[in-house]
Amino acid sequence: MIQTKGIAALKAKEALVPYSFERRDPKEHDVVIDIKYSGICHSDIHMTRDEWGFGSPFPMVPGHEIAGVVRTVGSKVTKYKVGDRVGVGCMVDSCRECAHCKEEMEQYCIPGNTLTYGSLERDGSGITQGGYSDVIVVNEDFVLRIPDNLSLETAAPLLCAGITTYSPLNHWKTGPGKKVAVMGLGGLGHMAVKLAKAMGAEVTVLSQTANKKEDAIKLGADRFLHTKLKEVFKENALSFDLIINTVSSADLNMADYFGLLKLDGTLVSVGAPDKPLSLHPFPLLMMRRNFAGSAIGSIKETQEMLDFCGKHNITPEIELIEPSQVNEAYARVLKSDVRYRFVIDMGKI
Ligand code: NAP
Ligand code: ZN
Ligand code: ZN
Repeated sequence: MIQTKGIAALKAKEALVPYSFERRDPKEHDVVIDIKYSGICHSDIHMTRDEWGFGSPFPMVPGHEIAGVVRTVGSKVTKYKVGDRVGVGCMVDSCRECAHCKEEMEQYCIPGNTLTYGSLERDGSGITQGGYSDVIVVNEDFVLRIPDNLSLETAAPLLCAGITTYSPLNHWKTGPGKKVAVMGLGGLGHMAVKLAKAMGAEVTVLSQTANKKEDAIKLGADRFLHTKLKEVFKENALSFDLIINTVSSADLNMADYFGLLKLDGTLVSVGAPDKPLSLHPFPLLMMRRNFAGSAIGSIKETQEMLDFCGKHNITPEIELIEPSQVNEAYARVLKSDVRYRFVIDMGKI
């Protein structure tokens, strides 16, 4: 077994504390990764507070934005070698047999994929533990390659915030001539702005925080609308082809946001609040609008996203913290005071 140092929530809603545990020895197709950096996703906060009612298992070592270096490989590993710069995102396995897995869409695995933390391992041997730790063992098929020109600390958040926004932007054909709006300028939101801009769209930020305007423009947004001002919804009605909703709360008047879509426009929710979003169908049926959702992205698409970010030099804005500062960082994320992704320096654990 591999001795591992991490940070865990021992119970729901409790502060995270140092935690030692064991990882499995590598199997034939496993890669052992020395974790260098781990991003803090708002989903980690939802999970450690058990806000989704999944009955999250504890102790829980969160973290699914992992960047590190290969320490050792199993005897039959062909994709990676010792010293490679690699990443791990939200999944570490899937059934590999269902229709969606066969079409390389493991994020939609029908029996359910194995999440990086808080999931039962496929062989039933235990519960997965995530990236707020110094080492992880992952099947090579769920390991990603980080482009040489991206630093490991800035690559880490791409493994969730990057792919979760890249996938819907890509699926709904973002490109020149498309008007895209991004709801919420946090970890996911600021990646959506950078990616949509690089894809050639005109990008507008819809934020409840007025003082993020300057940042939004610096990140590449063409426009910034402060959503606490009621008139912005009237003035910008029927403006967008696509809206990506990254807001972590359900405290939103969805009818206002649907009114911003053009005829046939689509609002995709990637935000995963603790409560349901509520909507009367009128704003949808009046302009034949669409309401969709999207979950992370496939392994193939994640590699494509990483290569796209390498090619266009796209990286998140990060604040690097030490492992002892995680609880403080969680409190700031909850206040919408993240500029724009916390990344933990796991070398300091
Ligand atoms: P984050 O960094 O905390 O950003 C969320 C942003 O939402 C905030 O910065 C804030 O932006 C806005 N917001 C928060 N509370 C609000 C409220 N009460 N009313 C209006 N706006 C509010 O979170 P994140 O890491 O980007 O994650 C965002 C959501 O996506 C979370 O729910 C997370 O669980 C989910 N998620 C889903 C997937 C998926 O596969 N679908 C993957 C990863 C994460 P402004 O200050 O600009 O308004
Ligand atoms: Zn995430
Ligand atoms: Zn499957």
